[in-house]
Amino acid sequence: MIVAVQLPTVGTTSAEGTMEVAASLAGLARAGDLVVLCGDLGAGKTAFTQGFGRAMGVTSPITSPTFTLANRYLGTSLTLNHLDVYRLNQIEEVRDLGLDELVDSRSVTLVEWGDAIAGALPGGYLEVRISLGSGPDDRFMDFRIVGSEWSDREAGLLALTAGGDGC
Ligand code: ADP
Ligand code: MG
Repeated sequence: MIVAVQLPTVGTTSAEGTMEVAASLAGLARAGDLVVLCGDLGAGKTAFTQGFGRAMGVTSPITSPTFTLANRYLGTSLTLNHLDVYRLNQIEEVRDLGLDELVDSRSVTLVEWGDAIAGALPGGYLEVRISLGSGPDDRFMDFRIVGSEWSDREAGLLALTAGGDGC
């Protein structure tokens, strides 16, 4: 049975606010981690990844991998894999991504629309679900630990969800 732990919702009122939450999450991340980003088009999954990468020391611009499927960026001590599986509708295409190799001992992997391929993901992950709020720049983020890989960081995640920018 896969255990899932839901954490409190975090609100932000700007893209920068979301990037800061993502940066805090990057502070908890370690090699081999998998983060699944869910939410509609324009929710802020790529913005979240930009904040995450910035905190990892990625200096090159992080752009949407919608057409390339997977981008790889060198951070200070870890590599960031950024995937967008929006287009994928066949399980073979997911296999072709070689997720098992990407989620390796030197990288952290963020997958946009990863909920669509949850069954094909190697091991547990942290799910970040971004929803739109009432104002144009309001967003809500819900974190969920799926499986065991992130469970020893529940306290850190709780501290992070106590932050946000006051939305
Ligand atoms: P996605 O990858 O989910 O399709 P993007 O990150 O590409 O979404 O786009 C999100 C858009 O919403 C960006 O233009 C960003 O500036 C804007 N935005 C406004 N407010 C926020 C917020 N609070 N968090 C994230 N993005 C926001
Ligand atoms: Mg995107």
